[in-house]
Amino acid sequence: MPDPEPSADLPELAVLRRIVQDGGADLQQRLVGEADAERRFPLLCVTLGNPAPGVPAVGFFGGVHGLERIGAEVVLAFLQSLVVRLRWDALLRRLLESLRLVFMPVVNPAGLWRGTRANPNGVDLMRNAPVDATERVPFLVGGQRLSAGLPWYRGADGAPMQAESAALCRVVEEELLTGRPFAIAVDCHSGFGLRDRLWFPFAHSRRPIEHLPEMHALCELFEQAHAHHPYVFEPQSRQYLAHGDLWDHLYLRACTATPGRGFLPLTLEMGSWLWVKKNPRQLLSRHGLFNPLIGHRQQRVLRRHLPWLDFVARAAASHERWLPRGDERERRRGLALARWYGGAPA
Ligand SMILES: [Zn+2]
Repeated sequence: MPDPEPSADLPELAVLRRIVQDGGADLQQRLVGEADAERRFPLLCVTLGNPAPGVPAVGFFGGVHGLERIGAEVVLAFLQSLVVRLRWDALLRRLLESLRLVFMPVVNPAGLWRGTRANPNGVDLMRNAPVDATERVPFLVGGQRLSAGLPWYRGADGAPMQAESAALCRVVEEELLTGRPFAIAVDCHSGFGLRDRLWFPFAHSRRPIEHLPEMHALCELFEQAHAHHPYVFEPQSRQYLAHGDLWDHLYLRACTATPGRGFLPLTLEMGSWLWVKKNPRQLLSRHGLFNPLIGHRQQRVLRRHLPWLDFVARAAASHERWLPRGDERERRRGLALARWYGGAPA
């Protein structure tokens, strides 16, 4: 479907268009929805690699929160690096013969354009899914239905999901879940805490997910390959509980629809308080609080996360070689319960 209206003044969409142009026949772009503000913005999904439903897939998402530009930029930087490498990198071409990659780097373009966390209706997309926390959530930040004028608004009770959240869910269901033997999603955010975190579900409950052994195995693969990586790997519920988390919703749907298959969604939360600590001026800038303010620091942030994104693609392509089975699965579940849920070591 053609892009309805070039939005040249939103830098992230302009970059995406340029990358798609550079990628030529290696990339496919499709319009998966529109966001309405004072003007309309396209919701774009870009795919590359083998389109056959039988191969595993990875989805990379960014820009869900309009204040966290760096999330969109990290996803765009990774897509850009793939496009330039495809010109010469035979190994990458081989990898993409057995893998599908899906990109939605600008989930909330109107929020980016307006410089708001929420979409133009005041809805926080990451609180917008129809899933309620099972225990008490922190006031406001856990999601609220009091007012669109307050942050972390979930949208009206019983209302359909916002165009942006619905488009993200459709992309995940169509591109990552339908017929896939295995899929991983990485959604890039910034703004929580001092450390870079990789969060996995649940956000709505302290209960461990069914695929905890798989998550533990993925985490260990990464730790073995990148001994000095910067991340804290943990379930989001270790930090705080929230209503309406899109990834909880999609994970639960995947478990119901295709119980035997693995779908591992992760959220990269880049620890922006660190940037503030190094440059207190950032506190005075609305954009700066969630984004590195200085050019070289931004470069470093982009570079820092590319190994993780690259790893995820390789791990998905090789999932049959490392997904735990049988007794190994139960052994890992014990280790993971001890590591993240205060359980007794197996
Ligand atoms: Zn965010």
